[in-house]
Amino acid sequence: MPSIKAVDLAAHPLTAWQGPLGLPDFTRIGDGDFSPVFDAALEAHEAEIEAIAGNKDTPTIENTLAALELGGEALDRVSSIFWCRVGAYTNDTIQALERDISPKMSRHFSAISMNERLFARIDDLYQRRESLKLDAETLRVLEKTWKGFVRSGAKLDADGKKRLAKISEELSSLGTSFGQNVLADESDWALFLNEADLVGLPDFLKSSMAEAAEMRGQKGRYAVTLSRSIYEPFSTFSERRDLREIAFRAFTMRGQNGGATDNTSVVRDMLKLRAEKAKLLGYGSFAALKLDETMAKTPKAVHALLDPVWEKALEKAAADQTDLQRLATAAGSNEKFAAWDWRFYQEKLRAEKFAFDEAELKPYLQLDRVIDACFDVATRLFGITFEEKKGIAAWHPDARVFVVKNADGSERGLFLADYFARPSKRSGAWMSALQSGYRLGHGSKPVIYNIMNFAKPPAGEPALLSVDEAKTLFHEFGHALHGMLTDVTWPSVAGTSVSRDFVELPSQLYEHWLTVPAVLEKHALHVKTGKPMPKALLDKMLAARTFGAGFATVEFTASALIDMAYHARPDAPEAPLRFEAETLGKLDMPDTIAMRHRTPHFGHVFSGDGYSAGYYSYMWSEVLDADAFAAFEETGDPFNPALAERLRKNIYAAGGSKDPEELYTAFRGKMPSPEAMMAKRGLV
Ligand SMILES: [Zn+2]
Repeated sequence: MPSIKAVDLAAHPLTAWQGPLGLPDFTRIGDGDFSPVFDAALEAHEAEIEAIAGNKDTPTIENTLAALELGGEALDRVSSIFWCRVGAYTNDTIQALERDISPKMSRHFSAISMNERLFARIDDLYQRRESLKLDAETLRVLEKTWKGFVRSGAKLDADGKKRLAKISEELSSLGTSFGQNVLADESDWALFLNEADLVGLPDFLKSSMAEAAEMRGQKGRYAVTLSRSIYEPFSTFSERRDLREIAFRAFTMRGQNGGATDNTSVVRDMLKLRAEKAKLLGYGSFAALKLDETMAKTPKAVHALLDPVWEKALEKAAADQTDLQRLATAAGSNEKFAAWDWRFYQEKLRAEKFAFDEAELKPYLQLDRVIDACFDVATRLFGITFEEKKGIAAWHPDARVFVVKNADGSERGLFLADYFARPSKRSGAWMSALQSGYRLGHGSKPVIYNIMNFAKPPAGEPALLSVDEAKTLFHEFGHALHGMLTDVTWPSVAGTSVSRDFVELPSQLYEHWLTVPAVLEKHALHVKTGKPMPKALLDKMLAARTFGAGFATVEFTASALIDMAYHARPDAPEAPLRFEAETLGKLDMPDTIAMRHRTPHFGHVFSGDGYSAGYYSYMWSEVLDADAFAAFEETGDPFNPALAERLRKNIYAAGGSKDPEELYTAFRGKMPSPEAMMAKRGLV
């Protein structure tokens, strides 16, 4: 076996990025490279940490905090490429590596956060912080770093430290298994149909299903898959109630099908370990631990938002269900109204009420035009421009590369995007960074990417999006802007490194510009005629915006409430799925609506720690985004330059350099109340 010393991190394509535009040269990266490079990069980082911890000089910001922040560059680089591959383009080799690397990384970072000599130096700086005359950003980074060490167990005794490290390692392995199990259930399941089974389906869906079947070796047939891009429109349009039921059951049972990919025990073990971790660190519950670092701060504050919304959403959904049942009966259905009927009749009701259907909008929402719209809005608000560079290799041939330029033409960073679903990609849509932007040391330019799961059109045909998909594109692009517009000194507060309940503000706020009439008039052009969306259709679409709010709010809030129910208790439930059912019962959850994410596939909460006790964050941020966009509406100009500049400076560029409440108030002049959000959802 070659020694890991044989890896030259200064020259290896995973760590020395010598491809075009300063990207990694993806053509020279093989799956077999990750393991030895990870080992070498971990070792290099350990040596850097040892040098900081063992330094005999008095701790300074330079020799301790800055050295810590800038250390581990090789590890950051190999990790960012690896995690991109895990999510967007995985295979058996990558999955096996992931199972191996997750616990290794967890051990590595636990060892750093429990390094006593290192913490002593940070603690020394922290105790002297008043006398160091630090600028506000540096002081905040020092305080956050110190708190991070304490929250990771730096003050625990030796046994406590050992146990905490073990818990973190196990949690990280379990999170990996959880995600892989869901992916396996999603990619293993497909319902193959013939032409005769497609009654009611619009053309765009038929071609996506044909493509999905062909990808799975059944050319000439049509596949319903568990990708949201196919599952949701299928449930919306299919006249075949029996097939809608089959798809519904498969979709809601992902991760709960028995056998090797069943997540029931994974969830139970994770909840137990999380409760133990919170207790060890002196918190009353895992939610209390997680929320300590957020804008909401306590489970009580989260419930103060969610509970009244839940009441309103239930009332709205009950009223909507009465209308839908009437429609079902009129259509001759004698069956009991069920969860697999909701989307179908809701679409019929939409067509009746607003005299248009979703499929009518789709020819106006071409993927490439919607991307242009995203870019155009960013140019009008923030002055940056985008230029595509063709022929540059990224992690997969579908990934596209754009250079992002400042108003003066200088390069700001890179934006990469990978839009189409494939079996090797996990479901959902997300933003991440190959490299973040900051000024410390030699500085670093942001290299940001978006991953989507739009159904791939047959060769030569343009991809068409639903309104929801176009919104998702704007949403993830809003996160990308948060990464690309960042203007801070310290890496740990760059871009999206903000509290979870603040991080959805830049993304959800950006969605508002999709439906600004000037944007749609310019970019929503018919795929065949090139004509803009007719004013009447546009008006109907805008009028229909709050339609279905009862359903959407119930499915979201149910997931958020279950997440809180699991984590706000001091212990863990013995049988989580029974607890899920009982909690939903107590909440009066209608049996005609499913949670947006049920426990066994709730990746936000169990595929890692990201949104555990944090799914509420989307709604928390929505309170902010509704109020923030209202600021533009109040001026009568959705691109008001003075406001856009305040937005850039205080929200998109500021990262986590200041307290979120301070940032929001600097932009808006005051903190928001939930009214604008409730009104936006049509709940008042
Ligand atoms: Zn988001």
